[in-house]
Amino acid sequence: MSWFKRIFGISLVPPERAIVVYVRCDKCQHPVSVRIDRYNDLAVEYNEREIEIGYVVHKSIMDSTCFRIMQATLTFDTQRNEQTRTISGGTFIDEATYRALHPTT
Ligand SMILES: [Zn+2]
Repeated sequence: MSWFKRIFGISLVPPERAIVVYVRCDKCQHPVSVRIDRYNDLAVEYNEREIEIGYVVHKSIMDSTCFRIMQATLTFDTQRNEQTRTISGGTFIDEATYRALHPTT
């Protein structure tokens, strides 16, 4: 029944559902944005005692210039608040930087 409890619990205080992550390819410098859905994209993480410790999402992000794959990993606590983010092959940028690099979107 833990899944039911979890769904019911989060429905009381729903965080903003979508997170938009902005990254820049290290190779071609092309900016890419990707949406992460806090309810559909997150996988539960357990500790060694099988106690739920939070969530994790692994995203493969491909830019449209050199088509290289960047691998981003974000972790969340049990309330689905973002804790950490790491990426290989790219760099996280903020929304303003993304818009400056990619003004058409
Ligand atoms: Zn690239």
